[in-house]
Amino acid sequence: MTEQRGGPIGPVNGTTVPRFAGAHTFARLPEIAQVGDYDVAVLGVPFDAGTSYRPGARFGPMAVRQASRHLRPGHHVELGVSPFEEIQVVDAGDVPVTPFSIDEALAQITGHAGEVVAGGRATLAIGGDHTIALPMLRAMAREHGPVALVHFDAHLDTWDTYFNAPTTHGTVFRRAFEEGLLIEDHSIHVGIRGPLYQRGDLDDDKRFGFRTIRADDVDVLGIPGTTQAIVERVDSLPVYLSVDIDVLDPAFAPGTGTPEAGGLSSRELLRVLRGLTGLNLVGGDVVEVAPAYDHGEITSIAAATVLFDLITLLARAKHRSGG
Ligand code: MN
Ligand code: MN
Repeated sequence: MTEQRGGPIGPVNGTTVPRFAGAHTFARLPEIAQVGDYDVAVLGVPFDAGTSYRPGARFGPMAVRQASRHLRPGHHVELGVSPFEEIQVVDAGDVPVTPFSIDEALAQITGHAGEVVAGGRATLAIGGDHTIALPMLRAMAREHGPVALVHFDAHLDTWDTYFNAPTTHGTVFRRAFEEGLLIEDHSIHVGIRGPLYQRGDLDDDKRFGFRTIRADDVDVLGIPGTTQAIVERVDSLPVYLSVDIDVLDPAFAPGTGTPEAGGLSSRELLRVLRGLTGLNLVGGDVVEVAPAYDHGEITSIAAATVLFDLITLLARAKHRSGG
C-alpha cells in the first residue's frame, strides 16, 4: 500500500468518541475517499432479488455497519494482532445496485467490485443475499484468475435453476463452477445441513469438485479437524471465503432468509475462522443478514464480528510477511 503519513488511518477512537456516536462506516473506519490508498476494503452490496424464501437482505449492509459499532477495534486478542495498525482498511460504501433486474445488478456489482479490488486489494463484501458472491467471484477472477472457495453455509447453493431462474442465491456456485471461476477440486462447503429437494442434489454437487463438511461432521471432527480439512483443501491457493450467516444455528442468527435448525454456534464458527491464519485470502463476503427477522442485533453482531475476524486474518498475514 501507499503509506499514509504516520501509518494507517484507523477507526474513530472509541475512548474519545463513544461507540454509539460518530461515523456510520463499518467499525467507524475511514471512507475510501478519505485515504490515499488501502489494503482492504469493506463493500456493501444491498441486493436481495435472488432470494427464494424470506426477502430483506438488501438491508444487511446497513444493519451490519450499525452492529459493527460495538467492536472495540484496537486489538484482536485471539489472533494477537492490532489489525488497523497493520493495514489500511476502508469502507468503500455501497454498490448502487438496481432492485429490478438480476442480470443488470450483477453487471453493476462486478464492475464496481472490479474497481475496488484493482491492484490486488482484498475486498470483503457485506450482502445482500448470496447471489452477490457470483459477481464478486467474477471480479476476483479478473484480478487473480480462478480461486479456491471456502464456503460456510447451511446450503450447498449449487442447484441448477429455481423456477427456471439460473441466477439465484441457491445456484451461484454452480454458475461459478461452469464459468471457470473456481479452481477445480480445491473448494469446500462447511456447515451444510437440512433436507434436500431430491436425493440427487448431493451427486450434482460432487461433480463440481467440492468437499463437504456437514454440520454433523463438525461434531465428529471438532474445531481442529474442521480447520485442518479446510487448510488441506485450499493449501496456498488464492482463497475467496464466503460466509452465509445461516451457517449459524437460528439461535445465533435468526435474522436471515432461509434459516435451518442444527447449525454451528457463533463460537464454533469464529474458532474455525481463527484457525485459518495460513490462508492466502484475497477476498470474501458475509451474506444473508436480513435484519427484519433479527432482534437485539443478534445476527448482525455475529456478522460484524465475522467481518472483523476476516480483516484481522488479512492483517495478520501482512504482519507475518513483514509487508
Ligand atoms: Mn444458506
Ligand atoms: Mn447461501
